Amino acid sequence: MKIPRYNHRSQFTDLTATTEKIRHTLATGDYILGDTVAHFEHRFADYLGATHAIGVNSGTDALTFALTALGIGPGDEVVTVANTFHATALAITAVGAKVVLVDGEPDTYLMDLDALDAACGPRTKAILVVHLFGRSLDMDRVTAIAARHQIPLVEDCAQAGGATWNNQRVGTFGAAAAFSFHPSKNLAAAGDAGALVTNNADIAHTVRTLRGLGQDGQDNHVALGANSKLDAIQAIVLDAKLDHLDTWNAERRTIAARYRHALTHPAITTPPPSEEPGDHVYHLYQVAVPHRDAVLAQLRSDGIDAVVRYPVPIHHQPAFARYGFDGKYPHAENQATSTLCLPIRPDLSPAEVDFVCDRLTTAITDSQEALA
Ligand SMILES: *Cc1c(COP(=O)(O)O)cnc(C)c1O
Repeated sequence: MKIPRYNHRSQFTDLTATTEKIRHTLATGDYILGDTVAHFEHRFADYLGATHAIGVNSGTDALTFALTALGIGPGDEVVTVANTFHATALAITAVGAKVVLVDGEPDTYLMDLDALDAACGPRTKAILVVHLFGRSLDMDRVTAIAARHQIPLVEDCAQAGGATWNNQRVGTFGAAAAFSFHPSKNLAAAGDAGALVTNNADIAHTVRTLRGLGQDGQDNHVALGANSKLDAIQAIVLDAKLDHLDTWNAERRTIAARYRHALTHPAITTPPPSEEPGDHVYHLYQVAVPHRDAVLAQLRSDGIDAVVRYPVPIHHQPAFARYGFDGKYPHAENQATSTLCLPIRPDLSPAEVDFVCDRLTTAITDSQEALA
């Protein structure tokens, strides 16, 4: 049995209708922005309960625009979490600000909020939280910390499209939020794409300007900006999939529950189930196991597309070497060395889940025997 991580074809319930719209767009030449993109932007904002969604090239650009629109630059500090994808920290350095890392929690891998509170100082100009793996942070606490320090909040929702906290969608709690529609994400485009979401009309206006080369009206460039506009073909794909996102996220939760029930070997640590008012849309299903590299190799040779997210933490990445992160982030490091992600996608069948559980349990027993 082969268990791939993605099944892109399964996400098109009506492929003919989607390809017909794309064919029409190919003929009209309305390839960038336009009505098709505006339509998706409105629908995505409505889905989240936000006022503005602005389509851009990627989640990374959305993060960078959020920080730029908040006026963050050299001399400022932005606090984020040590165990996240490279792009979160990259956006902070892209605007010239200093990355201040705090560790993740050992069980949920989410940002340690006591450490966040302690890291906020006079130079902190934004808090950039990550709903890592699809699990919503405690947004009551996050918003209280941001309010107490009077620091704007930015949410990295790249992995958490559709997740909620207290029945409110993540991405609507702070000044701005970034979503990624990279093909790996829960809501996936057919290429790179992202969106910046905000309830603030000024931020929305600034980001619309920034994504279009800083142009505010024809030939009037008011900001340096970037070229980062959403393509109509991507908007067609995203529009077709948006109706299914809640169903797919529910299917991901069902698969996670099946994993949790079957993975009873005492050496396997499964992620704690999310409890009300929190939510988890299981972009990734992370387990901690002993002899991680041996177990991973065996799973892969069994045809199971398991991966490590993220094997090299931010503070050990060569690109950030000259930024000198001097703190200690033991939980981020532990996550890097002892966890792996099992395949989780909405159409994974119960038999496939059971096969993965069986192979994982066997791989652990084998690796323990090899060392005994
Ligand atoms: C994917 C991802 C991003 C970047 O999104 P892109 O669309 O690939 O630029 C940012 N942050 C996190 C946590 C991600 O997982």
